[in-house]
Amino acid sequence: MPSCKARLISFFFGFFVLCSSARGAEHPLTLDALVSSKTRLMVFSPHPDDETLGAGGLIQRVLGIGGAVKVVFMTSGDGYPEGVEMEEHISHPTAQDYRAYGVERQEEAVRVLETLGLKQKDIIFLGFPDGGLCTILAKYPSDDGPDYKSPFTLEDRPPPADVVLPDTEYNTEDLERAITKVLVDFRPTLLVTTHPRDQHPDHHSTYFFVEGALQALEKKAPRQKSQPQLLTFLIHFGQWPLDGGGGTGSRLYPPQGFPEKDSEWLSFPLSPEEVDTKRRALLLYHTQMLVMGRYLLSFARGNELFSFDRPRTEKEVEELRRCQQ
Ligand SMILES: [Zn+2]
Repeated sequence: MPSCKARLISFFFGFFVLCSSARGAEHPLTLDALVSSKTRLMVFSPHPDDETLGAGGLIQRVLGIGGAVKVVFMTSGDGYPEGVEMEEHISHPTAQDYRAYGVERQEEAVRVLETLGLKQKDIIFLGFPDGGLCTILAKYPSDDGPDYKSPFTLEDRPPPADVVLPDTEYNTEDLERAITKVLVDFRPTLLVTTHPRDQHPDHHSTYFFVEGALQALEKKAPRQKSQPQLLTFLIHFGQWPLDGGGGTGSRLYPPQGFPEKDSEWLSFPLSPEEVDTKRRALLLYHTQMLVMGRYLLSFARGNELFSFDRPRTEKEVEELRRCQQ
């Protein structure tokens, strides 16, 4: 269940921004009210590339005006058979191949994020299993019970290099603890992650893991006045955004058929330099460009879209948490 208090604070702040910006303005709303030299932006990315696709411009902007940014990768993208086959030219990858592919994607993500202006110390890999987040959320709730085992890497815990907390294993409790730790360590003012209606199971689960950690924090310190503002971005929804045309100069619009009641979209305009840097960064994701280059580049446009988080009913949450692609 959503934490009503945290959600209402977020929602009302969002509502205020929307109302005040909407008065007399025909143009899409902007995020300017949330972005300043005091902004501490934390991006939770399901896989290496989602952070740049969804928020590569926002990351550059916050860094450019003197704010702080950390990017947290839930998985290292180590469970992607087509990717491993294309990159390594092997038809039946072994667990070792998948693990090596994860390491390669981490190194690639570091190069990409350096292009956006981040330092390596501001990049965190949680090392959870690619393709396994939804199953963990649905079936592996507790540290006391069994842990999930990746059918790709055959691991049931993050690689030693990625351990944020000792004894972390692949279950919901441990992942939320790791997320809570990075939130407490960094104290973000602005939190960005994937939308709960994103159709990739790792993506909508990432939202619920982050949201669960926020709830846990809110419970522990209910009077803490500085709950971060939570925004979401969308990556997978049908053929979007390829179906809407594209190209560097064009704009990104919300997908057709997206449940309207579910979102208040904010358009964040990027400068030509920011778009160019985002595009160059995406091109550095060689392993992913090989498999879906055209799709990745369709996100390098003149704006990025974010959605304010909103309160949801128990029924909506139940529906959104289902593991279907
Ligand atoms: Zn992804």
